Formats: sequence, structure tokens, C-alpha cells
Amino acid sequence: MVKPKQNMCIGCPGLCCRLQVSLTAYDIARIMIHEKRPVHEFVAVAEAKHNDPDGFKTRGGIKKFVLIQKENNECIFLNIKDTLMCEVENSKPAVCIAYPFLIFSEKPVLCPKPACPPGNLLFLDKEKMSGETLADCKWEKEQHYSIVKDWNVSEKEKEDPRDFLMFSFREIDLESSALGSVFRKVRRPFLPHLRI
Ligand code: SF4
Ligand code: SF4
Repeated sequence: MVKPKQNMCIGCPGLCCRLQVSLTAYDIARIMIHEKRPVHEFVAVAEAKHNDPDGFKTRGGIKKFVLIQKENNECIFLNIKDTLMCEVENSKPAVCIAYPFLIFSEKPVLCPKPACPPGNLLFLDKEKMSGETLADCKWEKEQHYSIVKDWNVSEKEKEDPRDFLMFSFREIDLESSALGSVFRKVRRPFLPHLRI
């Protein structure tokens, strides 16, 4: 149920791929499995505000997982040289699938001040972003927020971001996620291979 390539993106230098992208354990597992990329190649740990629903507690404060960005803020997966395309198109994070729509809206609703060039927005085809796809994106995000909440109120030792990631990998429900065919093929035995 991944978003079909939008005609509106043609000619845009990937402006949305210069924004910070928060990651869920679903996003991380999807890229690890589908793209065979280890976590350290694409995941960074960023500071999070105390009221950020992505923010999980660690010994060093409240953190969140984000996609690694280059010095000029481009996402590590934005292929500027060859194609101006996402190198992980079939396994990209839920917020990237939903963009430029709000991930929590029931129907396609544009996010405020989208990064898209105004000329490109004229070609936005709302029909291509089905409510079903948005619901799939929202489902993963809500699961993630629930896992963050459980972690933050638990009595567990909150040492390191890796501890939270391993906790999340145990909690996520890969088989129930509808985002990308990769998850329909994944079965629990894969989980021990999610090394970080
Ligand atoms: S993962 Fe792909 S779509 Fe998402 S920010 Fe990076 S290059 Fe853009
Ligand atoms: S900023 Fe808008 S037009 Fe440009 S790549 Fe992102 S979604 Fe497409």
C-alpha cells in the first residue's frame, strides 16, 4: 500500500528530503530488512523535547531516532547525483510516504506550509493518496507512540538509545503492518537478525 510516485514531485529537488525525519521501529526494521542496511548507516539519535511523542527516556536525556542527514541537510537516502530520487522508495518511513499530507488526518489533508514548490503543488493528485494508505501510516505511528509511552513509564533501566530500540523491536507487530509488501513476508523468526 505504498504511495504511488506522485507526478507532482517531478522537477522538485526533493525539498522535503531536507527536513528532519523522525523514525519509528517499524521504519527502521523495514529499511534494515528490505535494504539490508545496518542501523548505524542511516539512524541518528537526536535531542527531543519533553512533550515530543517520539521522545524516549535515556540516561542522557530524552531522545528520538531520526534519519541521518548530510551536512547540507539532505537525507542520506536522497540520490542527488543520478536520479534525484529516494534510494529506499519501497521501504521508506511512514512520514515520507504520507508527505505532504498530515499523517494523522483521516482524509488527505495537506500539512501546513509544505516544503513543496508552489508550482509543483498544482499537480498534487489527492486521489493518489488514499485514505487507506494514510491509515496504514497512522497505524504505525500510533503503535510507536504507544511503545514510547510504555518505555517511558516502565521501571526498566533507561541507559542507552539501543536499549529502547531493542525494546521496540520486541514490541512491534510486523505482521500486522500494511506498509509495504516486505512486512507481509516477514515472520517473527526474522527478528533475531535485527542487530543494531
Ligand atoms: S527516506 Fe527518501 S523520501 Fe524520506 S527523506 Fe529520505 S530521501 Fe526523502
Ligand atoms: S517537496 Fe513536495 S514536490 Fe518536492 S519531492 Fe517532496 S513531496 Fe515531492
